[in-house]
Amino acid sequence: MQKLKEAGAVILGKTNTDEFAMGSSTENSAYVTTRNPWDLERVPGGSSGGSAAAVAANMAYAALGTDTGGSVRQPASFCGVVGLRPTYGRISRWGVVAFASSLDQVGTFGRTVADTTALFQAIAGYDRRDSTSLDVPVPDYEAALTGDIKGLKVGVPAEYFIEGIEPDVETAVRAAIAKLEELGAEIHEINLPHTRYALPVYYLIAPAEASANLGRYDGIRYGPRLPGSDMIDTVKKTRSLFGPEVKRRIMLGTYALSAGYYDEYYGRALKVRTLIKQDFQTAFAQVDVIACPTSPTTAFKIGDRTDDPLSMYLADIFTLPLNLSASCGLNVPCGFDSKGLPIGLQLIGNTLQEAMILNTAYAYEQAMDWGGKRP
Ligand code: GLN
Repeated sequence: MQKLKEAGAVILGKTNTDEFAMGSSTENSAYVTTRNPWDLERVPGGSSGGSAAAVAANMAYAALGTDTGGSVRQPASFCGVVGLRPTYGRISRWGVVAFASSLDQVGTFGRTVADTTALFQAIAGYDRRDSTSLDVPVPDYEAALTGDIKGLKVGVPAEYFIEGIEPDVETAVRAAIAKLEELGAEIHEINLPHTRYALPVYYLIAPAEASANLGRYDGIRYGPRLPGSDMIDTVKKTRSLFGPEVKRRIMLGTYALSAGYYDEYYGRALKVRTLIKQDFQTAFAQVDVIACPTSPTTAFKIGDRTDDPLSMYLADIFTLPLNLSASCGLNVPCGFDSKGLPIGLQLIGNTLQEAMILNTAYAYEQAMDWGGKRP
């Protein structure tokens, strides 16, 4: 925010999110329900659903979010805006509430690729106050938006076109990939064989890290306090302030880290994470950019998935693998389903290759004409 202010930005306010950014629909918010501007009966995605909805509804020029498992790209997809999740460490996390420290990264939303890039350009770079911040030069991302993608090698992972993906989503994403080819890109079929382990691995690592990060909210050393009759009672009352999803994650994570299960769950998840990372490294030895759907579905109805955590978790099945690797990714709108809801194309780049994916999205966006369709 400091960098944005220095760049002359006007801060309009805070946007809604799932509590501690845990969720895929913003329904876990401690405040209100955010609605999708394209259909008010539907969710905006999450966890940065407020940011995506605000940008889609023209309430703001651009917005920030965090993406630990998809929380910028997935709501961007549901709300028909551009959302960038840069490489881990590219943007400072100073001032961001920690969820899962090895996965968290700030991202930017805009209605166009250029807007998203402008915001990103203003805030990318090293910050000594974030020990995971990358001390590498910041390229001129805006100058990289040439729209020229001739000869670009685009990989299409077979594992991302699975059963359960909505036919309209698959059709639109495949059409977008065909458009990239028409613009001069070379399309290659690739494999990311460990993709199916990303969801279970994420739901061990993220809750484990969250349970450690949220341990400080005991009302004694940190956070609000609900006073009780003694210390134990105070901690009990204070910890009961967390919402149900946050409690679920704390319990899952604490269990995965407990003495008898650490190797079995957390330790094993870390090993599989390495395999997922290697999948991406192998892919990026063959191609420059990976193209796939951002989400298997378009925006679902408010309340549809709140009683079934697993179906909620599945909303991020295509965004989670990137967070477990060292890649960057974005969502760019690529059409509408039969209900008129936005569909998103996900473009994934190798470590610090934001300029390449932004330019690919820019080339695509410039070539398409949605007739100025807005919610
Ligand atoms: N939806 C995922 C989760 O609930 C990702 C959240 C995020 O990126 N903050 O953990």
